[in-house]
Amino acid sequence: MKKFYSPKEDTHKGADICTDPGHCQAWTKKEDAMAKWGTFKALDNWNKIERAVKETEGIIILYDKKVVNPVFHANSGGMTENAEDVWEGVEVPYLKSVKSEGEDKSSGYKVETVFKEEEITKKLEEEYPDIDIEPENLLEEIEVLERTPAGRVKELKIEDVVIKGTQLRTLLGLRSTNSILKREMTARL
Ligand SMILES: [Zn+2]
Repeated sequence: MKKFYSPKEDTHKGADICTDPGHCQAWTKKEDAMAKWGTFKALDNWNKIERAVKETEGIIILYDKKVVNPVFHANSGGMTENAEDVWEGVEVPYLKSVKSEGEDKSSGYKVETVFKEEEITKKLEEEYPDIDIEPENLLEEIEVLERTPAGRVKELKIEDVVIKGTQLRTLLGLRSTNSILKREMTARL
């Protein structure tokens, strides 16, 4: 845990791991999870987790005789990503892009997030002072320069500023960099 999760700065105040999914592991209280799942699924889901924990108790995964970093996702969108395309310059031999079948049946497979053009423009301009866009030109000013082998946005250009797909993802709070931006007209009746 110390090796994978302890950041350089003392954000953990001496602990090995924290509950911030940005660097460690997401964590939810049992009661909160049960409430979120709802009456029909709660017990089923909880039993599934309990079974998984019991069945894997005391078992660890090794690669080349070293403990692996067992990263996971709620939904990869059908294909996982190469580690080096997510964490720049960090190539991990066992974290290679692979197909992940059956995920289209899960609820998080395709997520639509709606923004006003003004909202995105404001966030971009605050984060990148060199960007100065009229909201109505937003989509025309964004160009995807490169996608990863798994199809996610690796790099994009906004006006003359080049940013990473992961930076846009964080800025807009998107679920994935495997994303398409499109304009949707709304009519007020
Ligand atoms: Zn942490």
